[in-house]
Amino acid sequence: MARPSLMGATALWWTVAASVALGLSAPAALSSQSAPVRTTEVYALRYGTLRNFPVYALVAGADTARRVDAALMVWLVRRPDGRNVLVDAGFYRDKFITQWKPADYRKPSDAVKAAGLEPKEITDIVVSHVHWDHADGLDLFPNARVWIQRAEYTHHIDSAGRVRDATIDSVDAAMLARLKDAGKVRLIDGDAQEVLPGLTVYTGGRHTFASQYVGVRTAEGVVVLASDNAYLYENLSTRTPIAQTLDSASNRRAQERMFKLAGSPRLVIPGHDPEIFVLFPTPGNGVARIR
Ligand SMILES: [Zn+2]
Repeated sequence: MARPSLMGATALWWTVAASVALGLSAPAALSSQSAPVRTTEVYALRYGTLRNFPVYALVAGADTARRVDAALMVWLVRRPDGRNVLVDAGFYRDKFITQWKPADYRKPSDAVKAAGLEPKEITDIVVSHVHWDHADGLDLFPNARVWIQRAEYTHHIDSAGRVRDATIDSVDAAMLARLKDAGKVRLIDGDAQEVLPGLTVYTGGRHTFASQYVGVRTAEGVVVLASDNAYLYENLSTRTPIAQTLDSASNRRAQERMFKLAGSPRLVIPGHDPEIFVLFPTPGNGVARIR
């Protein structure tokens, strides 16, 4: 599909940059905004920063004086079968912007555009858990099926779309219920479920009642997208549980399992670490190809 008129200058530039990186000719890439990929590609997309976030709220037992500029991210999986999968959807509603005052903020849908896709081209979203900064943006992507653990959904949201556990924000509970009523939500039953070929979800991180993380098969090996089941590289490198978990021992075991699943240690990606964009600097502009 040729839709060059929809492209902003930035998206256009990144398409050219990506085509150069792939060894494609620029004119071929320009003929289509979302040229099919030949192999599964995984990206971290940054949509903002929570500056000076206390590390002790992320890493259990950390010094209370330490701070980190926590990265706000969603993750994109582009597949040769044409499905474009997001892991988590970020947030965009004014109440969260006002309360949390993110720096360098752009809507998660604009972060997707920076990676060369239109929001309507997202076909699936795997929600790791119901927190506002991971689930609020689900309705920015009009054509997406939403994949969430059945236990995560039913623990937090009742049949009328009301909050059953205040872990979820009421507007997000109502929004998820609307998506479910519209037939857009797929409930997943438990651990090690392959929701698409080569894309498998795992439970046990216990960040929330039934939080899940994702393994994506790629040419470089399985990439594990931990989301908040491991906030920072510090959790992973020291096997220290996240500060917010319902079960520290389970969280530590989940982190150990992530390394068994992953093709290499560098392919385990934590949920809020700004270092990701240093370790994986290309293509840039808040878009990091994981490989
Ligand atoms: Zn969370």
